[in-house]
This record gives sequence, C-alpha cells and structure tokens, in this order.
Amino acid sequence: MRKIGVLTSGGDAPGMNAAIRAVVRKAIYHGLQVAGIKRGYQGLIQGDIVAMDLGSVGDIIHRGGTMLFTARSEEFKTEAGRERACQQIAEHEIDGLIVIGGDGSFRGAKLLSDLGIPTIGIPGTIDNDISCTDFTIGFDTAINTVIDAVDKIRDTATSHERTYVIEVMGRNAGDIALVAGVAVGAETVLIPEEKHDMIKVVDKLLRGAARGKKHSIILVAEGAGRGFSIGEVIRELTGWETRVTVLGHIQRGGSPTAFDRTLASKMGARAVDLLIAGDRAKMIGTIGGQIVATDIAEALATPRKPDLTLYDLADVLSI
Ligand code: ADP
Repeated sequence: MRKIGVLTSGGDAPGMNAAIRAVVRKAIYHGLQVAGIKRGYQGLIQGDIVAMDLGSVGDIIHRGGTMLFTARSEEFKTEAGRERACQQIAEHEIDGLIVIGGDGSFRGAKLLSDLGIPTIGIPGTIDNDISCTDFTIGFDTAINTVIDAVDKIRDTATSHERTYVIEVMGRNAGDIALVAGVAVGAETVLIPEEKHDMIKVVDKLLRGAARGKKHSIILVAEGAGRGFSIGEVIRELTGWETRVTVLGHIQRGGSPTAFDRTLASKMGARAVDLLIAGDRAKMIGTIGGQIVATDIAEALATPRKPDLTLYDLADVLSI
C-alpha cells in the first residue's frame, strides 16, 4: 500500500470533513500518499483527483459539509462507469480506497472491491440508517440541530397554546425523529418503521387537552407521512389551529458536535489501519463504544432496526 484514495459520496453529513482529515493525516503519518477524489464516484470516473498533504485538511475539522464535495453518479451504477473508475484508479496508482457515505455509497464500494480494489467504507449520513454500527457520522449533529429548532418552536407553541407538527428528515429510518422526540419531549413521534393510526394520535392530543395541556409537539419523520397532511388531519379532527414546520436542509449542515468529530476521527484512522493491514470490503462501525469492522456485504444484507424502546419511552413520558 503506497497511495490511498479518499472520497465522500451521496448526501453530505457534518463530520465528513473530520473523517477526511483523519484519513489524510493518519495515512501520511504512516508514510502513505493520499489522493483526494472530488465529487464522489462521478469525480473518480472523471479523474477529478488531487494530491492531499498535511495542510490540505487544515482548518476543516469544525466545518459541516465536505471539502471534497459530493455527488450522485448514475454512470457509476453501470459496468462501463465502474470500469472507467478502475482505469482512473490504476492511472493514479491508487492502491486502496476509503469511501465516506451512506448505504448507496457502500453498495458502490462493495462493487469496486469485487473488481479488485481494496475498499473500506466509513458511514457518513445524518439518517443513522446503516446496519452494524450504533451511530453514523453526522447523526448526533443532526439531532442536536433538530432539538435546537424544536425548542425554539416550543416557545411559540407554549405562548400561543398551539399544536405544532414538525417534519424531520428520515425517509426510511426514524432515528432522527425517535431520538429528538425523546429529547424534546414530543407528545407523539411518527416513524416509517411503525404504522400509526391518526385516530389514536388525535385521541392522545384530546386526552392531553382534557387534562389541561395547552400545546403539543408532533414530530414526524418524512417517511411516515408529510407534515402538512398530518397537520391537516389534526385540524379537521380537532378543529384546533395546527401549525406545520418542515425543518428541511438545516438538518444536514452545521458545525459537527464533539461526538461526531471524535467518531469521525476514530473511524478515519481505523479505516487507514485496515487498508494497511490488507483488509478490504469492510465498513467501520461503532458498537457499544468500540470501533469495529464488519464485511460491507454483511452490513448491506442486515436489516436496520431502530431502537423502538425510544418509541415506547416517548409515548409513556408524554401521557
Ligand atoms: P448514500 O450513499 O448517501 O446512500 P446514494 O444512495 O445516492 O447516497 O448513493 C451515492 C452514490 O453511490 C450513487 O450516486 C451511485 O453513484 C453509488 N451507488 C448507489 N447505489 C449503487 C449501486 N447499487 N451500485 C453501484 N453504485 C451505487
């Protein structure tokens, strides 16, 4: 192993920069060269590749987003596209690759490994929707952003005695809504993994109102339904003024939390260690506080389960 490549792919997440920094610095520490590949797999296909030195990753640990940029590449999903990617890897004499991204990016990483490129994945996505790791890089920052936003909305909800529906990210995974829901004390949390019944949701709101509750917060993961339609149903069934806020892309940005910076630093360093040790087609995870490596194929084949004890807890604590 003389030169490794690093790229970020798919949706950006806070802490990706800290991971890039860790990969570059750890690799250089071990005497390796590092190639920074811009715009994910698309940049790899196009040979958008620059040499990274120690200074190139200075002053980025605290920044959200990714200094290598990210992209989605349809071409890489084709065999011809992946062949072009392999040609670039050979031309740039890259001996191993570190891919920071979500499950789509990991599918790509697995295919590159099958083509003989030693590839290691680092889970970077705010959704926390990857198996074989308790946390992905960016999730902690995203839930803290949601908490901050909902706390502010709660001030208005309390002052005006209104019901608020707040839609958060999570098309397939309800983790953001679940953890943030417990942390903000939401009355109801709706996630894609659990079916909900609007009659029961409204019943709970009415019970709360009957015992004097003046306002309610309903947190909806986007995969469980659109905030505006849920707000409409509540309005129709209760006659209450119900406001809806879609938090949107503010959840993706911002300076990473201490947790995400340290997780990214540990994962980036371990990814380099694995490549040096001759490992391939692995993903880095954190389980029970330990940094671990799992076969990417196993991670992709393992269904992701949210922590449903949080679902029950949010419900019990908001009776
Ligand atoms: P994320 O990595 O955040 O889940 P995507 O699902 O958009 O984001 O995946 C990022 C990129 O990874 C895609 O644009 C594509 O280039 C590559 N990719 C995703 N799925 C596959 C697949 N099944 N085969 C090959 N490449 C894939």
